[in-house]
Amino acid sequence: MKINLPYSLNLVFWIFYSQVIFPYEITGSKWMSGSTTFYVQIPGASSSGLSWNDAFKSALNEWTQKTVFDFEFVEEYRDPCILDQLNGVAFTSDICGVAYGKNTLAVTMRSYRREILGEPSIVESDIVINNAMNYDVYDGKPRAGRNQAADFRRMALHELGHALGLEHEEAALSIMAPSISEINRLTTDDINAVRALYSGIDNCPKKALVFGQMMAALDKGDCTVSQITGGGADESFIDLYPFSLSAPTTVNFTIESQSLDAVLLISNPLLEINHLDYKTKSGCGSELSADLQPGNYMLLANTFAQKIDPLCDVKGAYTLFSSFESSTIMDLGKTLSTGTSPSKQAKFQGGILISEDFRFTNTQSPGEALNVVAVVNVDPIHINKEGFFIVIAEVGKQILALNSGGEFTQVSNTLAELPKIRSKTLNAIERIDITKDFFPSSRGIEDINVNFYVGYGLYSNVNEIYYHQLPINATISKK
Ligand SMILES: [Zn+2]
Repeated sequence: MKINLPYSLNLVFWIFYSQVIFPYEITGSKWMSGSTTFYVQIPGASSSGLSWNDAFKSALNEWTQKTVFDFEFVEEYRDPCILDQLNGVAFTSDICGVAYGKNTLAVTMRSYRREILGEPSIVESDIVINNAMNYDVYDGKPRAGRNQAADFRRMALHELGHALGLEHEEAALSIMAPSISEINRLTTDDINAVRALYSGIDNCPKKALVFGQMMAALDKGDCTVSQITGGGADESFIDLYPFSLSAPTTVNFTIESQSLDAVLLISNPLLEINHLDYKTKSGCGSELSADLQPGNYMLLANTFAQKIDPLCDVKGAYTLFSSFESSTIMDLGKTLSTGTSPSKQAKFQGGILISEDFRFTNTQSPGEALNVVAVVNVDPIHINKEGFFIVIAEVGKQILALNSGGEFTQVSNTLAELPKIRSKTLNAIERIDITKDFFPSSRGIEDINVNFYVGYGLYSNVNEIYYHQLPINATISKK
């Protein structure tokens, strides 16, 4: 991360046959949502009969249909000179009080909001069209000469490119050329520019967030902030961990590292940051706690664009410790299968049940009774069939399985040899008590990190086990 500019407003002029040169095509400033709504009610029509309104809407639709950006529109007038977070367009005699240049067809005014990661985002784009100029709507070569009508639709297409975040482009064929030309539709370059600006986050790998403990590193080859935000100069590395919550949840994330000067952030899926921490009390790590509402989030493991702390570095290995406490049991990600027919309808949930107040967590102290619970929502097509369950525990590199005697024993890797527990006719919802009133300290366990997996199968096909993507973590430590 790096320090960003404050709020600002800039004007983007499109000058008729001008020599003005702009040195870039995108800056990284964009709409966080990848979409916006224009308020369009432009009275009047061209001499060829098409209304200005329809020509403008046609330009909006072309961007929406051909690129990853979406323009919505509402057929209402909004004053483009008022900063109201609404995008307006109108013919005017000046640029909101400032005279038009003698060759200026139209001006797009963008206003920005500072973002914690990446360049400032666009929060409003208004377009004013010089009413002293002649317009018509037509394809083909622009009619030469200052008194000849310019193509209104082409002008609208160009201004809308500025409205969504594009700058002038002169190195390739583009509607964003600094001067009006015979290009009257979006080109490959325009479509690619929008993709570069808006698809950064899709192009970077995501890591599944596993509560408990994960080893990772920030280093060469990882995505950078400038890649995920589609521009800017922040070349710090970043790891993305999407996660979702179905109930209000307190989360706690800690990075421990010998070298990495870690920054932890929590954002929504659009990279709008809700929480951030960039320093622990000691060392190079980071620690971040947050009370989150149900929804989709990303945990971002980041560092600084430049080395700040002489004892730490902007790359290196780290361990991520994640814990939660929630009033509801945690969803365990995608449902997987060892066979050929993945069971889309089955769903797994799990966690440590905090017995007194029916809350769930993944961390507990060794002296407390440990109750690890899984809830299996059986696929409707499997209900009332004869089935069985298996429970696997992963402790470091050791794989153990729960047997019918309630003990975890070492197993081989073959599916057929896994002990089956609770053979029965399957109900819609099955609760599995993986451990019940187990006191780790009474067995000499003071500090352990276990990942449990639960699966079920049918006796009609014992080689197909349905299970879950994310483990049920139990971290036992004295804190
Ligand atoms: Zn322009």
